[in-house]
Amino acid sequence: QAKAAGRNAVRFFDPEMQAVATANATLATDLRQAWRENHLKVEYQPQVGMDGNMSGVEALLRWEHPERGIVGPAEFIPTAEETSLIIPIGHWVLEAACAQLAVWARRPDRAHLSISVNVSVRQFRHPEFIDEVLSCIRRAGIVPNRLKLELTESLLAENIDANMAKMRNLKDLGVRLSVDDFGIGYSSLSYLKRLPIDELKIDRSFIKDILVDGNDAAIAGTIIGLCRNLGLEVIAEGVETEEQRAFLARQGCHRYQGYLFCRPLPIEELEAFIDSAAGGAGVPLRPEPSSV
Ligand code: C2E
Ligand code: MG
Ligand code: MG
Ligand code: MG
Repeated sequence: QAKAAGRNAVRFFDPEMQAVATANATLATDLRQAWRENHLKVEYQPQVGMDGNMSGVEALLRWEHPERGIVGPAEFIPTAEETSLIIPIGHWVLEAACAQLAVWARRPDRAHLSISVNVSVRQFRHPEFIDEVLSCIRRAGIVPNRLKLELTESLLAENIDANMAKMRNLKDLGVRLSVDDFGIGYSSLSYLKRLPIDELKIDRSFIKDILVDGNDAAIAGTIIGLCRNLGLEVIAEGVETEEQRAFLARQGCHRYQGYLFCRPLPIEELEAFIDSAAGGAGVPLRPEPSSV
């Protein structure tokens, strides 16, 4: 007994764990302040089709930290989830995306663009999520099918019936649904065909070594085939080289997102990118596949 208590005591005062706990608490405090003081920003990364034209963008959060510079979402989304800050923050990203879609809807050269918004599990589970999506769409006065919600695969693995009902409700609003980071989770293939989803996003980890790792190439190829057979759209994320793009194109994947085309950009830079030859309608970003 005493021994057990001693062990627990030692564990509790483990300086390393204490340091981690302190760092987490600091991050939570900083994030709350950043949210209050409008230090969070949204950047947009183009998604490109086979013809080289942009089909849309993904909205990605950034934290403009006064001392540390730009902090990426991988560093603070987990804390945002733990503290529930992800609820107001996520709602704000959704509003920003809908407002941007409303601006683009009035521009013939941009009206076709979609915006994908990442939805965390916590946000999706929130009882008011559907109503919030609907009110964002209404307030912006946009056509709902330009809005794409990116859900993670973990949602497809648990509480399937409840999650499926919620996804149906979202589809009934007219928004499109995408499964982000596909391939690294545990979703059951048999459920996939019953889900009201429009798109799978092949996780970046399979694209990275697609030219040298036969297993990665096989998994990517399988996901592409799955999409073809189930009638789903497919997009590859993290495409960095022309060779990766060409390989994916040969496998039948014709939409891409990655540094090869463009990094995530602040809205002003994105607008300039769209207006430049690279993003403009009818002008390919890259050589046509036939000329490769
Ligand atoms: P994600 O949704 O899978 O987003 C794609 C990530 O890949 C982004 O990282 C993007 O900048 C990065 N990326 C795109 N192309 C390339 C490439 O060619 N090479 C490499 N190495 N990376 C590339 P980012 O912006 O750091 O975001 C990380 C994750 O944070 C996102 O992954 C998403 O899960 C989460 N996140 C971002 N914004 C939001 C948000 O508004 N809400 C929620 N809940 N999560 C968000
Ligand atoms: Mg995403
Ligand atoms: Mg992703
Ligand atoms: Mg990813």
